[in-house]
Amino acid sequence: MTRTVKDFIRTIPDFPHEGIMFRDVTTLFADPQGFRMAVDQLVAPFAGQRIDKVVGLEARGFILGGAVAHQLSTGFVPVRKAGKLPGRVIGQDYTLEYGEARVELHDDAIQPGERVLVVDDLLATGGTAEAGIKLIERLGGEIAGCAFVIDLPELGGRDRLEKLGMSLVTLCA
Ligand code: IMP
Repeated sequence: MTRTVKDFIRTIPDFPHEGIMFRDVTTLFADPQGFRMAVDQLVAPFAGQRIDKVVGLEARGFILGGAVAHQLSTGFVPVRKAGKLPGRVIGQDYTLEYGEARVELHDDAIQPGERVLVVDDLLATGGTAEAGIKLIERLGGEIAGCAFVIDLPELGGRDRLEKLGMSLVTLCA
């Protein structure tokens, strides 16, 4: 039987905290068929569109985003957790389930008017993606779309990003 992207992802119970069912995409990334399938499916909806940059969200978004950027022949830009980027940055705070976090973007990484595709492994509450989107838009970038391997719609991220007018691609729930 043909395997789907979901078949390559395993769920680890109680990681990183008790009660959390962690979706582990390392098994997807490690499989040549699975990884190619995932990257191809993330790219396909954007083929033929103008995309100038792919932005990957730390950390698994770097692995996927790099491959997506290569396939679309665009540059790749990381959105990183606070304090990791060496150059001048802009930052965005956002709320996690418990506490606050901050992500940063080099202030010269996106040019005004560039069309940007945002990539990450998983969409949960959408807080991380929204923070990344705000950073890109503050530099004058336009969001061409957001692409995730896994969508957990019950956590509200899909609704949240759709309310922002984002075009969303997700491969499995
Ligand atoms: P959100 O900001 O609530 O949408 O959470 C999404 C971010 O948390 C992404 O950067 C994911 O990589 C990470 N994340 C949350 N839950 C999981 C999981 O079960 N597996 C892998 N990553 C996760």
